[in-house]
Amino acid sequence: MNFNLSSEQQEQVQAARAFALERIAPFAAQWDRDEHISRQQIQSYAEAGFFGMTIPVEYGGHGRSALDAVLVIEEIARHCGISARLIVDHNFGAIITILNFGTEEQKRRILPDICIGQSLMSIGMTEPEAGSALTDLTTAAQTAGSHYSINGTKHWITGAGEREYTLVYARFDDIPGPKGIGAILVHRDMPGFKYAGRIPSMGVRGVQEGILEFHDMQVPKENLVVPPGSAFSQLMSAYNGQRVGASAVALGIAQGAFDFAKAYADQRQQFGRRITDFQTSQFKLADMAIELDAARLLIYRAASQAKAAITDRYASSVAKVYASEMALRVASEAIQLCGAQGYSRLLPLERMFRDVRCFTLAGGSAEMQRIGIATKILGRSLPQH
Ligand SMILES: Cc1cc2nc3c(=O)[nH]c(=O)nc-3n(C[C@H](O)[C@H](O)[C@H](O)COP(=O)(O)OP(=O)(O)OC[C@H]3O[C@@H](n4cnc5c(N)ncnc54)[C@H](O)[C@@H]3O)c2cc1C
Repeated sequence: MNFNLSSEQQEQVQAARAFALERIAPFAAQWDRDEHISRQQIQSYAEAGFFGMTIPVEYGGHGRSALDAVLVIEEIARHCGISARLIVDHNFGAIITILNFGTEEQKRRILPDICIGQSLMSIGMTEPEAGSALTDLTTAAQTAGSHYSINGTKHWITGAGEREYTLVYARFDDIPGPKGIGAILVHRDMPGFKYAGRIPSMGVRGVQEGILEFHDMQVPKENLVVPPGSAFSQLMSAYNGQRVGASAVALGIAQGAFDFAKAYADQRQQFGRRITDFQTSQFKLADMAIELDAARLLIYRAASQAKAAITDRYASSVAKVYASEMALRVASEAIQLCGAQGYSRLLPLERMFRDVRCFTLAGGSAEMQRIGIATKILGRSLPQH
C-alpha cells in the first residue's frame, strides 16, 4: 500500500491548481449568481485535458486512471463545485457505461467528441415517480422497425437541454421488472425530444437541473447501449465511479471551505486574541482536518481499485456516504468559525455550503448507499418493495 502520489500525479495536481486559480476561482461566484456557466468556459476544461481523462487514447481520451481524474476534480472543486461536477460527468457516469457496455461503433462515434468538449453528456435515469426506486421507472421504449419509439418524462437531469446527448434508462417493450430496463443514447435534436424546463435548485446553480420529455421520440436501434435483459446491478456498476467523482467534488468544496475559514479565523481578533488562539477553534480545525483526511483516504482507495473507471460498489458507497456527510459538517463549521461574515453572501462559504448539500442526494441518496453497504455486510439482497 503506497500513500504517495507519483511525481506525474503531483505535477497534474499542480497544473490543475494553477488552472483553477487563474481561470476558475475569480469567476465562480459570478457563475453562481448568473446560474450559468458558458459553453466557452466548459470548452476550456476539455482543452486543458480535464475531459476524458479516464477514456483510453484509442477513443480520443487521455488514458489516465480514475485516481488521476479524482485528483483533478478535487483540486477544481476547492474553487468551484459547478466546474468540478462538469468534469465528473465527462470522466465518469454515462460515458463509462458507453465505454464498458457500448458497441465498438458507439465508442468510436461518441467518445472522441466528448473528450474534446464538442458534445456533452447527461444521464437520464430519475423520473417523477421513480427516484430511489429506480427499477419502477416507466419511460417506455417500444420496438418500431429499425427504431425505438420512446415516451416518458425524466427530471433532475443535470445539464438537461444544454447537453447534446442523454443516456436514457427506459423500459423496453413492456418487459416488467429490472430485466426490462436498458439504456439508449438520445440526441437533443431528435424529433420528439423536449426540454421541459429548469428545476430551481439550492446549490451548484451554474449547472442546470431540468426536465426532459420524450414524445414518440424515434431513436435508431444502433443507439441502444445496454439492451434489456442485462443484469441490473451490472448496468448500475458504471455509476460507482460517478459516486467516487461526486465524493471528490464534496471533498474539494469542503477543503476549500476549510482553507478559507482557517485563514479568516487566523487573522480575525476578538478579546484581543486571534480566533485561532482559542482552544475551541483549534479543536474545530483539528476535527475538520481529521474528517477531510478520512474522506480523502476513502475516496482514493475507491478510485485506486477502479477497472476501466468502474469502481467497487462497497468502496464507492462508503466513500460517498462519508464524504457527502463530512462535507456538510465541515462547510457548516467553516461558517461558524467566520461568524456572521461567514453567513453573508460577501464570503464564498454560503455558496460552498449550498453546493455541498446535493451530494447526500444526487447519484443515489445516502440512505440507498447505506442499504448497499448493509447488503455487502449481511451477504444477502435487501429488497425494499
Ligand atoms: C443536484 C442533483 C443532480 C441530479 N442529477 C441527476 C442526473 O443527472 N440524472 C438523474 O437521472 N438523476 C439525477 N438526480 C436525481 C437523484 O439521483 C435522485 O434525487 C436520487 O436518486 C433520490 O431520488 P428522489 O429525489 O426521487 O428521492 P426519493 O426516492 O423520493 O427519496 C426521498 C427520501 O427517502 C429516502 N428513501 C427512499 N427509499 C428509501 C428506503 N428504501 N429506505 C430508506 N430511505 C429511503 C431517500 O434516501 C430520500 O432521503 C439529481 C439530483 C440532484 C439533487
